[in-house]
Amino acid sequence: MARRLCKGFAKADFIACLHDFKASADIVTGVLGEATIRELDIGMTGSVIGLGDPDYETARGVWNRAIDRRPALIVRAGSTEDVARAVGFARSEGRPIAVRGGAHSLAGFSTCDDGIVIDLARLNDVQVDVKARRAFAGGGTRWRTFDAATQQHGLATTGGLVSSTGLGGLTLGGGFGHLVRQYGLACDNLRSAEVVTADGSILYASQSQHPELFWALRGGGGNFGVITRFEFALHRVGPVVLGGVIFYPGDQAEQVVIGWRDLLSDMPDELSTFVGLATAPAAPFIPEEWHNKKMVAVAGCWAGDPVVGDDAVRPLRSLGMPITDLLGPMPYLDLQQLFDPAWEAGFANYYTSAFLDRLPDEAVRSLADYHRGSADLPVQAELHIHHFGGAVARVPAGSTAFTDRGSPFLLNCAARTPEPADLPPHVAWARAARKALARYGKGETYVNFTGEGVPDNVRASYPPAIYARLQAVKDQYDPFNVFRLNINIPPTR
Ligand SMILES: Cc1cc2nc3c(=O)[nH]c(=O)nc-3n(C[C@H](O)[C@H](O)[C@H](O)COP(=O)(O)OP(=O)(O)OC[C@H]3O[C@@H](n4cnc5c(N)ncnc54)[C@H](O)[C@@H]3O)c2cc1C
Repeated sequence: MARRLCKGFAKADFIACLHDFKASADIVTGVLGEATIRELDIGMTGSVIGLGDPDYETARGVWNRAIDRRPALIVRAGSTEDVARAVGFARSEGRPIAVRGGAHSLAGFSTCDDGIVIDLARLNDVQVDVKARRAFAGGGTRWRTFDAATQQHGLATTGGLVSSTGLGGLTLGGGFGHLVRQYGLACDNLRSAEVVTADGSILYASQSQHPELFWALRGGGGNFGVITRFEFALHRVGPVVLGGVIFYPGDQAEQVVIGWRDLLSDMPDELSTFVGLATAPAAPFIPEEWHNKKMVAVAGCWAGDPVVGDDAVRPLRSLGMPITDLLGPMPYLDLQQLFDPAWEAGFANYYTSAFLDRLPDEAVRSLADYHRGSADLPVQAELHIHHFGGAVARVPAGSTAFTDRGSPFLLNCAARTPEPADLPPHVAWARAARKALARYGKGETYVNFTGEGVPDNVRASYPPAIYARLQAVKDQYDPFNVFRLNINIPPTR
C-alpha cells in the first residue's frame, strides 16, 4: 500500500497508513514514532515513500548503478517548506540526510542506508525573466528542463554536457559545459539561492545577503544547506550554434591531442572544446569499420558569431585523418543532449579527476598509453581533457569557492560497466591513469568528478585557503555537520 503523507490526506487514512507503515517497514518502525511521522505530514505538499511502498525500489535508485543503498524514507519534497520539515524530521530522528537533485553523484551522495533522502525532483519549475536575463529554477531541476525553458527565449547559461544531470549538484561544485570559456562556470552565473539550512531556516544568499554563504555555494558543494531555488544570469545563445564532434583514429591520439593543445593558446573564448580518448560505439554516425575501435573525439561549441566560427573551428578538422566529422551548425538544445545516449542511467560508473597546469608531450604520451591499455566495449573506459581558461580564468582566484581557476585543463578518467561486479579492475585503471597525469597539476581534484568523498580526497580538492574559509562557513551554517553526505567539509569543532 502506498503511504503518501500529503496534504489533504484524510486523517483516518493517515493513521491506517501509519499502521501499515509500521507493519511493513521494520527499520522505520523501530525508530520512527507515529507522532514524529505525523509531524512530517502536517502541511506537506509532497509525499513520503518508505520501505515496502510499491514505488520504493524505483524511488531509491540513483544514476550510478554501482550505488545500492536503502534509505528509511524518501521525501519527495513539493515545496521549500517540505524540505525544511524533512530536515527537521531527520535531525530529530538522528538520521543522516541525503539531498538529491539530479541523482548523478558519482560517489552516491544522493542516497544512503537507513537515512532520509530529500528528493528535490519535483522542485523543477523554471521561470525566465527575459528582460532581466535571469532564470529562477527549482533545486531539483535538470539541465534538460532548464535549457528547454531558457532556449524558448534564445537564452542560456553554462550547464553540463549531459542534460540529465541536475543543476543543483553541478552548480554547487562549479559546473562546466559547452559555454564555459565564453560565460564561465555554472556557479559564476549564479546570482542568488534560496537555502534551507541545517536548523530548518530559509535564507536567501547573494552578494548582498549572507555573502559568505553565497561564496561557499559557488564551489563548496552541498555542505551548507538545501538549495530550493537558484537564480542564474542568462546570455544570448543560439538557437543554432556551431558544435559537435570530430572523431579521429585512436592510433593518432598523440598527434591529435598535441595538435589540439597547440591550438589552445590562440583559441577565442567563444570556442569551448575538449578531447575524449575512448572506444567508438557501434552507432550509425560512425563508419562501421570503426565500430568498437579506439578513437579520439574532439568536441566543441562555438556560441559566437557563426560566420567567424567557421574559421575558428577549422583547425580542429585537420588534427589528423578524421574518421567522421560531425561538427557543424546545430540547435544548442541538440548539442546539450548530444552525449546523453552514451551516459544513460543503469550502468556502474566511477570517475576520478585532476586539474592540470600543463600538458607536455610526455603527458600526452602517457595519456595515449593508458588509452591503448584500456578495456574494450562493453566496458567504457574513457580519458577526457576539458579546456578551461577564458571566462573561468578571468574571475579572480578565491572570489568563489571553486577549486582552481588557474589550471587550464581538467582530466577526467571514467570507467563504466554494465554490471557493478565488473567495475573494480577498471576503477584501478582509472586511478592509475589519474596518478600518472596528476603530476602535471597541483594534485587538486574536481569535486563533481570524484568517485569517493574520503577526507584526504576532499582536502586535496581545494587549495588550503579555500578549504579553511569553507570550514569557517560550515562552522557558521552547519556546525553539527547535518549535511555530511557530500564532498564533506567538516566543521572545525
Ligand atoms: C554522466 C555525467 C555527466 C556529467 N557532466 C558534467 C559536466 O559536463 N560538467 C560538470 O561540471 N559536471 C558534470 N558531471 C558531474 C556532475 O556535476 C556531478 O555528478 C553532480 O553532482 C551532479 O549533480 P546532480 O544534482 O545530478 O546530483 P545529485 O546526486 O542529486 O547531487 C550531488 C550532490 O550535490 C548535492 N545537491 C544536489 N542538488 C542540491 C541542492 N539543490 N541543494 C543542496 N545540495 C544539492 C547533493 O547533496 C549531493 O551531495 C557529470 C556527471 C555525470 C554522471
